[in-house]
Amino acid sequence: MNPALSPHAALIVVDVQPDFMPGGALACHEGDAIVPGLDALLRARRFRHVVATQDWHPHGHVSFVDAHPGRAPFEQITLYGQPQTLWPAHCVQGTPGAALHPDIDWSALDAVIRKGSDSAVDSYSGFRENHGPHGVRPSTGLAGWLRERGVDEVFVCGLARDVCVLWTAQDAADLGFRANVLWDLSRPVTPAGDAATRATLQAQGIGIVDSTVFAG
Ligand SMILES: [Zn+2]
Repeated sequence: MNPALSPHAALIVVDVQPDFMPGGALACHEGDAIVPGLDALLRARRFRHVVATQDWHPHGHVSFVDAHPGRAPFEQITLYGQPQTLWPAHCVQGTPGAALHPDIDWSALDAVIRKGSDSAVDSYSGFRENHGPHGVRPSTGLAGWLRERGVDEVFVCGLARDVCVLWTAQDAADLGFRANVLWDLSRPVTPAGDAATRATLQAQGIGIVDSTVFAG
């Protein structure tokens, strides 16, 4: 049986928002290339449970380079004892760049997890924020939402493959879900890191699959 047809499998669509598309505030490499395939997958209703994450920052968010005078975009600093990349300002709450991508039919979507709303803490993963000032990673509630619906396996796609998709898949595995990344329906900030991303996923037992496994 096609695993994606299981009532216990969920699709997690990470941060498919205009600011992460080419020409956007924080463009992923070929980010727009996933839009038609993702739209088709959602329209095919292959998953009983579909959740999207939406990066959703207030103005002046701690992850924005503008909040750190003298720093350059993509520079790494230490924040709360952890590495923090300084990003160009992106996905500001209520702006068009922060919307769920308008060229996708989202009607199959069951829930949206907004993340990065705390001005002092970044959030790459859909499951847990990055480390905050108290040394913990606060939950977004997504794991409980999935478990209460009987989900034990997740397929993660979206943007960016080397950041928020990676962290979401890693957290899913850490939290006890069988985790997979839909490689063809994700794109990285920088493709130079793809080999490392693949190795990291494989080392953690996370499946790497293409959306073609859901065809037919
Ligand atoms: Zn962000």
